[in-house]
Amino acid sequence: AALREGYERFDPRAYLRNNYLPPRADFSSEEFVVPWKLRCLAETFASGEIRGRTLIDVGSGPTIYQLLSACDHFEEIVATDYLAVNREELGRWARGEPGAFDWSPFIQHVCKIEGRGEPWQDKERRLRDRLRRILPIDVHRPDPLGSPLSPPADALLSAFCLEAVSPDRAAFARALLHVGSLLRPGGHALLLGALGESFYLAGPARLPVVPLALSDVRAALAGAGLTLRQLRSYAMPPALRTGVDDVDGVFFAHAQK
Ligand code: SAH
Repeated sequence: AALREGYERFDPRAYLRNNYLPPRADFSSEEFVVPWKLRCLAETFASGEIRGRTLIDVGSGPTIYQLLSACDHFEEIVATDYLAVNREELGRWARGEPGAFDWSPFIQHVCKIEGRGEPWQDKERRLRDRLRRILPIDVHRPDPLGSPLSPPADALLSAFCLEAVSPDRAAFARALLHVGSLLRPGGHALLLGALGESFYLAGPARLPVVPLALSDVRAALAGAGLTLRQLRSYAMPPALRTGVDDVDGVFFAHAQK
């Protein structure tokens, strides 16, 4: 209930400013956190192994950076979020409406690290074409979308959501089990998330976060029937500890159901 109340005050623009503008979104060096996240995703999708009809992104929030490498490998991308304000923010970007957040530096950077010489506008168009559904979701329900995804997703992605909506490690593990049910057997799961974080700010909202260690991520994946393929971590440099949260680092996990 406390979490739900916190999210009623979540301000998407403040969240975007805190996390997706400099200093965190600084593309001049790979030492910054946003380029690190984009590289994890670009390298993982570069294998060509993770592909199919549908990829579902759980707790998309107001952001699309996490879909930029993914969108080349799926016919449809399903974005989801609990909050209408975030789904509206995403819709504005998908429709190319004025006032939408400017993701072009992210798209340019991903085209650069993917190294195929693709014009960034082509990737932007492809993601907009493929982002056909933006659905409400609640990861605390065994059936997070309210009805099963049919057919189930070929891949599942979730960035900075499960730990940011769970009061404790048990709830985090349960939420992962719930969202894992959206994935077909054999499907790939990619998780990005915060390590050792206890809160983050989004305008007037101060959201509690369950502080995770890498061992918690490993245990939750195993408990959800997901076999770990790769686990990486990043230590938040002092210059990026800006007071918008108390995050120690970031993990990236690739697992398979
Ligand atoms: N994926 C984005 C946003 C993460 S912020 C990024 O990488 O930055 C956490 C998100 O979880 C918010 O968008 C919030 O609206 C969403 N959320 C809050 N409660 C939720 C719930 N019960 N189920 C699913 N998502 C929830």
